[in-house]
Amino acid sequence: VAEDFADLCAAVDTLEAGQAADWDRAGLLPEAVLRKLGAEGLLCPEVPVDYGGQGLSSAVAGEFTAHVGSLCSSLRSVMTSQGMAAWTIARMGSPAQRADLLPRLVHGKLAAVAFSEPEAGSDLSAIRTRIRRDGEQIVLDGQKVWTTAACYADLVIVVGRLEDETGAAVVVPVDAPGVTVRPVPGPSGCRAAGHADVRLDSVRLPADAMLGGGGQPLALLCTTALAFGRLSVAWGCVGILRACLGAATEHAATRHQFGKPLAEHQLVAGHLAELYSDEQAASRACEHASRCWDTGSTDLVVGTVLAKYVSARAAARGAATAVQVTGSAGALEGHVVDRAYRDAKLMEIIEGSNEISQLMLARHVVATRR
Ligand SMILES: Cc1cc2nc3c(=O)[nH]c(=O)nc-3n(C[C@H](O)[C@H](O)[C@H](O)COP(=O)(O)OP(=O)(O)OC[C@H]3O[C@@H](n4cnc5c(N)ncnc54)[C@H](O)[C@@H]3O)c2cc1C
Repeated sequence: VAEDFADLCAAVDTLEAGQAADWDRAGLLPEAVLRKLGAEGLLCPEVPVDYGGQGLSSAVAGEFTAHVGSLCSSLRSVMTSQGMAAWTIARMGSPAQRADLLPRLVHGKLAAVAFSEPEAGSDLSAIRTRIRRDGEQIVLDGQKVWTTAACYADLVIVVGRLEDETGAAVVVPVDAPGVTVRPVPGPSGCRAAGHADVRLDSVRLPADAMLGGGGQPLALLCTTALAFGRLSVAWGCVGILRACLGAATEHAATRHQFGKPLAEHQLVAGHLAELYSDEQAASRACEHASRCWDTGSTDLVVGTVLAKYVSARAAARGAATAVQVTGSAGALEGHVVDRAYRDAKLMEIIEGSNEISQLMLARHVVATRR
């Protein structure tokens, strides 16, 4: 078990900050970097040791996710997808499927998870992808959109509907006949995360490609994967906040205007205090959620939604503040705060938008605090 956080970070610290800007500009992560981290099990470090994984607790994996997120949100997004795929297999797969698939995900194979469709965004009950049983096989037809990491993935876990309207999560090899992966053109943030639309035209697979045999409630499949994704995104937002806090503080301490450092002007100092408060609040919310995961607390679901909501809002606000503090220096493509600003905004949309998170939190409050 990789307990040593410093060792973990050393594995990604060879990635210099400048590289992330280059990747963002190119809209592409180097395949060699992904395969190397993947082969070390670092893209889904929670996978248990029994399956060849790092077996990290949620708390340690979360700090590692934040560290990756502070360097490169695109790489962190790929980590989130890989972790979400591994978690879905671990929760929904049969013992044989777990034994077959999880070792592959910690030895270099890359995976993505596809729920969203043109007409099913926040409302995943509108998923239309069809899965038809045909003897020992199944046939998939549908259209997925914005699947993170699909451009790099070997496997995409596709969530769809069976003929009896129950759900199924199907492990689809991207080289299966009938699968078309088309990159999302020009995403505004996380530009190198390999977002793609995935088309499925009469994709024929063995029936055992369905995790757990299929037939689960669609909502259960979605919430299982999303729970992991939410916490991973939340920790990624903590990383964005830490990168922004570092850049804004350094700039404010060294840039002089009106005869003194920017940090000594009270209005700028106020920005730094807000950014620090946001980073601390998001960190505490994520730590709490990870504690719930590690102890199996019943607060896991609401704690995770809370962490995602608090962290995504804080990251979007904090990145905007960091751009403000750095002024024209940060208003350049490739500057860490510019990238953070574009990346952080998208975190308010994905894995349950701010509004969907608010609805879930309000429902919890009404159910428990009256
Ligand atoms: C960077 C990025 C990565 C993504 N990665 C993946 C991925 O890996 N896999 C995948 O399947 N999908 C992925 N998605 C898709 C993502 O899950 C959806 O974008 C998200 O669920 C929101 O859906 P939508 O964009 O269709 O917006 P809509 O659902 O159309 O919502 C638009 C706006 O309306 C609000 N809204 C909607 N319903 C309500 C309501 N009932 N009450 C109040 N407000 C409401 C939303 O909060 C939002 O602000 C990704 C998207 C992005 C941008």
